[in-house]
Amino acid sequence: MATDYDDLRPEVKEAQEQSLEALQTANAPTAKSAVVELEESDEPDTAPAGEIITEELIVEVVPPRQDEFTCSSCFLVHHHSQIAREHDGMLYCTECEA
Ligand SMILES: [Zn+2]
Repeated sequence: MATDYDDLRPEVKEAQEQSLEALQTANAPTAKSAVVELEESDEPDTAPAGEIITEELIVEVVPPRQDEFTCSSCFLVHHHSQIAREHDGMLYCTECEA
């Protein structure tokens, strides 16, 4: 497994992580508002179910494989050959840049 990442150039790996971050940020509003509602509640018996759901939402974000990237515009995973533009570590696919 480790050898797979050795083949990956550091800057490419970093770009993928940044794309993943952007994806998580895009998904954040729903999870974040749920957490805020829990925090605003002073009920001592607040069920931790909301927190568990929030964690599951984050886990569901599957990192792209090393030969793929997540478009920062449409958030779809494309093959690296589909990269049309890179800006501030954000990758954009040929469909969005067409
Ligand atoms: Zn796109």
